Amino acid sequence: MIENTNEIINYIMENKIFDDFMILNGFSKTQLEEYKKEFKQLKSFKINENVFNTKQTISENLLKFIRLTTEFFFTLTFKAMKICENDGNVNKDNNNLGTPARLSKMYVPKSLYDNSEPLSGRWCYPPKVSVFDNSENLKDPVTVTVSINAMCSHHLFRFGNEEFNENSKAIISYVPNKKIIGLSKIGRIVNFISKRGWLQEELTNTIGETIKNLLNTDDIYVTLINMQHGCATFRGHEDTNFYTTTEYTSGKYKDNEFKKLILQTLK
Ligand SMILES: [Zn+2]
Repeated sequence: MIENTNEIINYIMENKIFDDFMILNGFSKTQLEEYKKEFKQLKSFKINENVFNTKQTISENLLKFIRLTTEFFFTLTFKAMKICENDGNVNKDNNNLGTPARLSKMYVPKSLYDNSEPLSGRWCYPPKVSVFDNSENLKDPVTVTVSINAMCSHHLFRFGNEEFNENSKAIISYVPNKKIIGLSKIGRIVNFISKRGWLQEELTNTIGETIKNLLNTDDIYVTLINMQHGCATFRGHEDTNFYTTTEYTSGKYKDNEFKKLILQTLK
């Protein structure tokens, strides 16, 4: 581990090369000083957290500053990996963004509303999700199947359900208490949470806890069945038959018979 990473990054930010790069990308000298200060004030947060859940707030401009800083360091990383900078496949010219810029956008999206990138969920505003009073006093379990597109925190590879495999899916089931929710909204919440760096177990629990709190019910079940991990299929043993299943159970679903009944209705 490198010590004093803050000092190193601050040192590099005082370098003219860094300023030139930022100015070339649209920052004025005054803005630069302002955002360097804000950058230093922003505390680092976990790879599975959303910035707005850390009692901090950021602006679109600070996000842009962070994304460009990331691009700057990716460019240096390419140098360290001996990747030729003049290669048309990776460099930046006319209409080509360049690979360091594309990579940085995957990890720091282009806006606080952009939920389309693998780590968007660290930066995006949480989706607006309304819940309704359970005025009809519904008591039957509600079960939905959703897809998962998440990033593993160890390798920053995708993990999620395998397309075209009906045995690979995520199931979320709850018994209504005082609140109910539009069913498609569950998918939006799952998508927003997933796009961060996770262990599958942690992601499963966080989805469960989030929906539990939102709907004010104790009876909730989440299972991520047969998730495929890019870090297992595309590296290491390259085992394409490696699947992982995790569960979160709470309240009534702790009763195995009840749980079985729910899963059976899906078949
Ligand atoms: Zn991994």
